[in-house]
Amino acid sequence: MRGKERVLEAVEKGEVGGKAATSDVERISEILSYPIARMIVSTVSDRYLVGRYALGEAMLLEKRLLEDTEQNLSTISEELGVQLEREDKDYLIHFTTFLTATSTIRAKEWKLVNQEVFKGEVKVSRDRLARILRQMLFDKISSELPLEVNDDILETFGEAGKQLSRMLQSKRKEFTSGDMGPVDDASFPPCMKTILTMIRNGENVPHTARFAITAFLHALGMDSEAIIKSFSTAPDFDPSKSEYQVKHIVGEISGTEYTPPECSTMKSYGICYSPDSVCEGDWMTHPLKYYRWKRRKGKSSGKRPPHPDKALKGGDVGGKDKEDKKDVKKGKRDR
Ligand code: SF4
Repeated sequence: MRGKERVLEAVEKGEVGGKAATSDVERISEILSYPIARMIVSTVSDRYLVGRYALGEAMLLEKRLLEDTEQNLSTISEELGVQLEREDKDYLIHFTTFLTATSTIRAKEWKLVNQEVFKGEVKVSRDRLARILRQMLFDKISSELPLEVNDDILETFGEAGKQLSRMLQSKRKEFTSGDMGPVDDASFPPCMKTILTMIRNGENVPHTARFAITAFLHALGMDSEAIIKSFSTAPDFDPSKSEYQVKHIVGEISGTEYTPPECSTMKSYGICYSPDSVCEGDWMTHPLKYYRWKRRKGKSSGKRPPHPDKALKGGDVGGKDKEDKKDVKKGKRDR
């Protein structure tokens, strides 16, 4: 079933593979598979799955938009609520649309001050327009799903949903099981170090980044109290708000323990801050993989991880890793 395949591809690879339809039957099957995939995701009703699926569809859209006809580009833009105007080879979109779609992208070249703006319209290339529409689709699917499902839908797609649930469970295990030992903040990947520093400095941190760091710290074995404490040096620290958010993510309120997003999702959210040379490896697909690798490396080079009481204190998110500390100090957060 192509609908199920779409979801599986999104979960496994972070991208739905586009099928080039060679007949009307295939074309219709491809069109129908989208609402079916949405129903399958809705039978599971899991935020991680929704995010992963939304990302997979958004990545496919971006790829298609780069090759698609002008007509399709404007139709899709319209469907996503983006009014377009052509300006030679580029496009003009309203600055509010630009700001909304790029609010999670921190790279300097995406800042509004670095854009050409004419009478409230921002000039963007086709590549950038595709990136913006990818973000809009991601936001749209994330906010729409899960849909309400009735018994008929559960009966039809329940088996596919169960298979997905099992797959998600094993993915969760991959990133939550195993004794990681005392938390070693010197082994944090650059994204997590940066997010922690931003929170502690009281900077405006996107919701996705707060989610990622909380789930990451929880996966390392920290309980909600310790996580809340690690955020508490922020000038704008609000204990009750933090408590609710953290307890929700670690499963104390929601009953669902969330795992930190994979690197591909972090990139899509625009929160893969300051990736370093370790991040360039093909095998680097998850911030927890980075952490485990760095810890092993630290141990084999004779460095001992800090005592748990020393971990995560104050603003020393760089720990003993001078290179990484330098990056954080320089504020290199752009991708
Ligand atoms: S590549 Fe992965 S581990 Fe490295 S900074 Fe980006 S999200 Fe973090």
